[in-house]
Amino acid sequence: MVVKTERDEMTWYKCEGCGMMFDDAEDAKQHEANCDHEDPSYIQ
Ligand SMILES: [Zn+2]
Repeated sequence: MVVKTERDEMTWYKCEGCGMMFDDAEDAKQHEANCDHEDPSYIQ
């Protein structure tokens, strides 16, 4: 899943699967949908 973190007074969105970080929530969500490391239990 995507976790929201704050660093250097900026909000980041981190993919828990692979640790990649994004400064845009939509980018993080799009990545998460295609991330090979994501837990398959989240698939709807
Ligand atoms: Zn990922």
